[in-house]
Amino acid sequence: MQIPGHIDPVAVPRAPTLREDGRVDLVGLSKEQIRAELEAAGLDAKAAKLRGKQIWHWVYNRGATEFAQMTDIAKAQHPFLADHFVIGRPEVVEAQVSSDGTRKWLLRAPDAQDYEMVFIPDADRGTLCVSSQVGCTLNCRFCHTGTMRLVRNLTASEIVGQVMLARDSLGEWPSQPEGRLLTNIVMMGMGEPLYNFDAVRDALKIVMDGDGLALSKRRITLSTSGVVPMMARAGEEIGVNLAVSLHAVTKEVRDEIVPINRKYGLEELLQACADYPGVNNARRITFEYVMLKDKNDSDDEARELVRLIKKYRLHAKVNLIPFNPWPGAPYDTSTPERVRSFSNIVFDGGISAPIRTPRGRDIDAACGQLKTSSEKKTRAELDRLAEEKQAALG
Ligand code: SAH
Ligand code: SF4
Repeated sequence: MQIPGHIDPVAVPRAPTLREDGRVDLVGLSKEQIRAELEAAGLDAKAAKLRGKQIWHWVYNRGATEFAQMTDIAKAQHPFLADHFVIGRPEVVEAQVSSDGTRKWLLRAPDAQDYEMVFIPDADRGTLCVSSQVGCTLNCRFCHTGTMRLVRNLTASEIVGQVMLARDSLGEWPSQPEGRLLTNIVMMGMGEPLYNFDAVRDALKIVMDGDGLALSKRRITLSTSGVVPMMARAGEEIGVNLAVSLHAVTKEVRDEIVPINRKYGLEELLQACADYPGVNNARRITFEYVMLKDKNDSDDEARELVRLIKKYRLHAKVNLIPFNPWPGAPYDTSTPERVRSFSNIVFDGGISAPIRTPRGRDIDAACGQLKTSSEKKTRAELDRLAEEKQAALG
């Protein structure tokens, strides 16, 4: 049942616009879907199967964006393919690099919806933070994305497209197992991935395919605010690592800061974590815990966190995230001493609780608080500005 108000609204169903030229974008399609599209364009079944395999490899393994690059497909067939299909990439509106090497891209969909992606390089890995929706319907009180008004699900094409664009810009084609800069993916950009399950699953299947983008499922993490009924399916059908945005250990506080808690409470959530397929000591669930001053950061709450993790016998670690403030946010960042004390208590309880260093602050790139400058204005403000501009033009 849908809870009315801001706890559990569905994304506004805005279908992404089809290409005006009628061509089909192959990015985001599975091998089987590419084969079916080739048949629909007029190839016979046998040719569609063979070409489908070849095209899949060129698109996802080699990063080709033109059919002319596909040297094992007869030249005479290239114009036919180019007439019917494109190999697209998201449009880049802006690309920024932080002083610490973090990169952020503002991307625009054909229907003028903006979303963001962030690449965070570290000594031993490079993590791409991928968005699953434009905006988010869930309104966690500390999260900037939750204040965005317009929400739509990203398509599988737009989700895979982010990874492919990052590969383009890092120069990492063809897909190879060793020596990559982009080693990890976290579904922690804009949006709640489990509210866009099918597209996220289809996109991640392509990312994980050995002849696709070839990233191991062990290097992919899906973060959810706690959409309990979808968690088992995420484990079974996607099988990636799970991160859960816990952020509080009591009903009272979690109801306030993560409102979906009013629908799926803490006990249900922790039980779903205990039941998550494939979790063991080597493959633990990550609990994200954003540290909010005087809200969820006391020693007692740290002890309660340890108690809960033990009670549900969870193989888990805790990521302590210093709150990244934004203008008008109703919370402050916990003091470093508070965060350290909290971390020590959880460590003493035998659970790893590293404190995350904020990255890319100078370009506003922290995961989970991505938001485009154009969306910082409300719809009404944008309309008013447009009217003023019109008036000024006479
Ligand atoms: N919707 C999913 C995934 C995106 S949010 C989820 O909530 O898990 C990714 C992470 O960033 C979440 O743990 C979220 O709580 C955190 N986050 C959001 N806003 C933040 C902020 N202002 N400072 C620090 N972390 C934040
Ligand atoms: Fe949505 Fe996650 Fe932000 Fe909550 S923290 S509003 S679920 S993006």
